[in-house]
Amino acid sequence: LLSVQGLRKSFGEREILKGISFDVMSGQTLVLIGPSGSGKTTVLRCLNYLETPTAGAIELAGEPVGGAYVGEAAKWAPLPEHRLALQRSKFGFVFQRFNLFPHLTALQNVAIGPRKVLGLSRAQAEERAAEQLARVSLAEHMDKRPSQLSGGQQQRVAIARALAMEPRLILFDEPTSALDPELVHEVLDVMGDLAREGMTMIVVTHEMGFARRAADKVIFMADGHIVEEGPPEEVFTAPREEKTRRFLTHVL
Ligand code: ATP
Repeated sequence: LLSVQGLRKSFGEREILKGISFDVMSGQTLVLIGPSGSGKTTVLRCLNYLETPTAGAIELAGEPVGGAYVGEAAKWAPLPEHRLALQRSKFGFVFQRFNLFPHLTALQNVAIGPRKVLGLSRAQAEERAAEQLARVSLAEHMDKRPSQLSGGQQQRVAIARALAMEPRLILFDEPTSALDPELVHEVLDVMGDLAREGMTMIVVTHEMGFARRAADKVIFMADGHIVEEGPPEEVFTAPREEKTRRFLTHVL
């Protein structure tokens, strides 16, 4: 479903991603782990062009992301902003800080994307939003504003908001790191359900238990490179690389 080849990203003189390549198949859950500053968030942000990669190719369902090859010489032309916005809507994004609109209810927060980006009527968008809020067990809280909800509930609203756009895949950037410890499991449970239902997901997390349970593939990144990748039982119990071993002894 998603193919990433030779992804590079520099900020000024500093190269943060130094050639990242991986594939995600439809229905898979990929978990990205690695030390702080290794570039995991930057990978996610490049995938949907929140950051413009310095080099490399990203394809979603066979379609190049961020631009197209045009003319006989197949010259790369970046997509105009409105086309990019539509393409970006195929990627759900769940942030560490939920980024909900504080003045809108849960229902309105979830319905706004389908209305404004997909052009659904208010009634259609709200029906879809209600369905997705029920899916994350928030049916009784639809009319509350973010300030009336716990952090775990707010993050579940953010997940419903991503789902309501019917994305091809969802990117999660440390979705539980801003939560009180007792609220972490309710968000991980929802994500585990989605993984089992066949949603395609890429998850940056420090929750190694979740990675073991839910990941089809784990990628360990350090210093802008992929150091090691494989199924969780391999990466966690028999890592091939010394760097992976050292990281895991600190976090497990
Ligand atoms: P963390 O777990 O701390 O979020 P990470 O692996 O997700 O770490 P990134 O957030 O991708 O790492 O950041 C990698 C490096 O890129 C960091 O050193 C960061 O300072 C730098 N960086 C990220 N975004 C920018 C930016 N917009 N401008 C300059 N430097 C940036």
